Amino acid sequence: MSRVPLRRAFADLPPYVPGARVPVGAAAYKLSSNENPYPPLPSVVAAVADAAVDINRYPDMYATELTEAIAASILVAPESVVTGCGSVAVLGHVLQAVCESGDEVVMPWRSFEAYPIAITLAGAVGVPVPVGADGRLDLPALAAAVTPRTRVILVCTPNNPTGPAVHADELAELLAAVPKDVLVVIDEAYVEFVRDPLAADGLAAFAEHSNVVLLRTFSKAYGLAGLRVGYAVARPRLAAGIRMASTPFGVSHVAQLAALASLRAVRELMTRVDKIVVERARLLDVLRSQGWTVPDSQANFVWLALGDQSSAFAERSARAGVLVRPFAGDGVRISVGEPEATDLLLEVAADSSPR
Ligand code: PMP
Repeated sequence: MSRVPLRRAFADLPPYVPGARVPVGAAAYKLSSNENPYPPLPSVVAAVADAAVDINRYPDMYATELTEAIAASILVAPESVVTGCGSVAVLGHVLQAVCESGDEVVMPWRSFEAYPIAITLAGAVGVPVPVGADGRLDLPALAAAVTPRTRVILVCTPNNPTGPAVHADELAELLAAVPKDVLVVIDEAYVEFVRDPLAADGLAAFAEHSNVVLLRTFSKAYGLAGLRVGYAVARPRLAAGIRMASTPFGVSHVAQLAALASLRAVRELMTRVDKIVVERARLLDVLRSQGWTVPDSQANFVWLALGDQSSAFAERSARAGVLVRPFAGDGVRISVGEPEATDLLLEVAADSSPR
């Protein structure tokens, strides 16, 4: 056994546990990682094949063409876009770019499980603020948790794993209350699935406030989870700092071309997103008619706050052929996938219903 000590902060850090923690068995459907159930479009597969002939070379370090295409698609300057190996890596780069050792990062909890890890890796200290029983972020409490040591506030909207989106008025109040030298990172990994008319518009907040950074990804709505492409939108000076912190050549040539092809196919991909949103409504409606209390979801997953029944539910679901994601002692997150997967899941849910 190695006697080299690991960083002390690692001692209590829960690891990021991807996908299913239950026996896979014969499970046919994977609803445990908020992936897109649709296979890649032929045009995206063709872009990947074309890119493959160049993999003896390093990729374009700053993903110039992709960066410009992203910027054009959201009407910001290319200097404001920083790509990376998934938005989870970009989050790490953002924190490393602004946090001094011991700085505080205020974050909702429960939220995306990578947050505490990324904060610790950046040498900062996470300050968790409880999410309400309705699964909604408590923005006044996030603002109230700010101290002179606070460098960053994380806002996850829609919140993973509970589902609701932050409303525009709530975000406006938070941004008005927070000092301008505190960075507000709005994690919009699921923004394309949002249909709540009251939901906050991250790009509008970015345009209005110089301390806002957005995080977005090609992993969910664009269906490129396996290629790892995400990006930050930040004011140019901040964006330059995030680039300094980034892993060199962090987005492969294959991933850059696939993301570009996906942007070109955005209409078709957003039609798929619409179908997932319809399926989400069915899943929510039937679960509620079965007697479950389910928070609103503006993402591609729903949340059952099953408490200490979470792991048992996930095991029953896996035996029925559907992998879902238990957070022990807290709840189960179910991604919206194929209609057949919803049907199977709903059978398990009916058998375990609180009624
Ligand atoms: N933010 C949130 C809220 C997420 O749920 C995820 C993925 N689970 C990510 C960021 C990271 O996505 P990726 O690294 O695949 O871009």
